[in-house]
Amino acid sequence: MANYDPNNIFAKILRGELPAYKVFEDEKVFAFLDIMPRAPGHTLVVPKAPARTIIDIAPDDLAHVIKATQNIARAAMTVFAADGITIQQFNEPAGGQVVFHLHVHMIPRKNGVALKPPLSFKEEPAVLSEHASRLAGALQG
Ligand code: AMP
Repeated sequence: MANYDPNNIFAKILRGELPAYKVFEDEKVFAFLDIMPRAPGHTLVVPKAPARTIIDIAPDDLAHVIKATQNIARAAMTVFAADGITIQQFNEPAGGQVVFHLHVHMIPRKNGVALKPPLSFKEEPAVLSEHASRLAGALQG
């Protein structure tokens, strides 16, 4: 794919070159916690196939990402006692994208609690580990 940089951070996570707080994985999708969560449980869902934006991804791969996002959102409602879920997806710098491997943000929400600003807060590793294992556990069964 001409516009895809294989050295982006999420490509390195997919290749196992960088660590991630894994929530879910199947043959087409990988999901992990955002290390700068805008709310507890903020999860990123990415296709394994290289795709820079929603413009580039094959429709079937996009559908798989959305199905996985729905499953994770359902689990997150319980695990994080959420009142709602915010889904975000940004494309190109003009659209707010910072990492150039397509990803969907799944953010559990509480009534009356505003999102933290993007990239404003780095969560503690112990907290991320605990959240990832609880969410992964709920997805398994
Ligand atoms: P955006 O491209 O604007 O959708 O944002 C990229 C997101 O990736 C931000 O929310 C960052 O906090 C998040 N992020 C950046 N590096 C990592 C990483 N190594 N592991 C998990 N999330 C990351």
